[in-house]
Amino acid sequence: MPLQIDLHTHTTCSDGADSPTELVGEALAAGIDVLGLSDHDTLAGWAEAAEAVAGTGMAVIPAIELSCQVLEPGSGVPPRSVHLLGYLPDPQHAGLKEQTAKIRSHRDHRLQLMVEKLRVDFDITWEEVSAHIPQGATAGRPHIAHILIEKGYFPDTSAAFAGPLRADGPYHVPHYAPRLAEGIRILSEAGAVPILAHPYTGGRSGAIDHQLDAAEILGGYRALAEQGLAGLEIHHRENTQEGKEVLGLVAKELNFIVTGSSDFHGSKKPNVLGENTTTEEEFHRILAAATGSEPLR
Ligand code: AMP
Ligand code: ZN
Repeated sequence: MPLQIDLHTHTTCSDGADSPTELVGEALAAGIDVLGLSDHDTLAGWAEAAEAVAGTGMAVIPAIELSCQVLEPGSGVPPRSVHLLGYLPDPQHAGLKEQTAKIRSHRDHRLQLMVEKLRVDFDITWEEVSAHIPQGATAGRPHIAHILIEKGYFPDTSAAFAGPLRADGPYHVPHYAPRLAEGIRILSEAGAVPILAHPYTGGRSGAIDHQLDAAEILGGYRALAEQGLAGLEIHHRENTQEGKEVLGLVAKELNFIVTGSSDFHGSKKPNVLGENTTTEEEFHRILAAATGSEPLR
């Protein structure tokens, strides 16, 4: 039986529903052997996960999902939000600490501004939302969704995201994030292995404009590889089928590491632990390339 390797999950340290201890327990129950802990813009869950996983036989891969953005100056197209997974960074790296603190602080302020806009049409206050965000956690729209669901406006997080929380809606406020090239540089300097999360979810999403022709798409990814991008999360429920095929060809051509993961958020999203996995071969490429920290066992 091959190892079950799920490299992308969230906890209450960002917008997941379960604490790191609960996540480790659920992953063990789901038969996961290697679990990537990749909260948005924070490493805060690592210590608790290390305690929870000790002696269980499972390994936790300490990681982060860094918020980044792609700008196409002069195109008239709004900045695109892109997420960059970083495996095994050095938690003491000053640049990474500084950048994540800045993103989290802007996320707090941005969520507050979104609540101010929502208040016009919904019974919701910042006091209610902030009371629901655990101390120090990375604030995100799912925290607003929780209150809207509690008040009966929506049945679940997905419905709230399809409604007032959508990125192109009137209540949305963007938050600061470093340019993707800078995110790749910071993670690389911190000894991490940078891998693009769910790179091809359709439309104009993603680091590369996938409406370009095949040669231009490959050229775009080649430029990211030259900046230090190491891989693509191809096996993820939000990548389109066509996207998986395109990304597969790109990965082969550029020798990218290919991962698969659930992006588990507990009850905040329908994603199930182990629904997509990474092969042992690709996982070992990550281990061989990382210099910032060690798996937690
Ligand atoms: P934000 O970080 O505030 O931009 O909110 C986006 C995040 O919400 C995503 O990265 C996901 O982690 C999370 N999320 C949870 N449920 C959904 C959903 N149904 N649609 C989009 N994002 C979701
Ligand atoms: Zn994620």
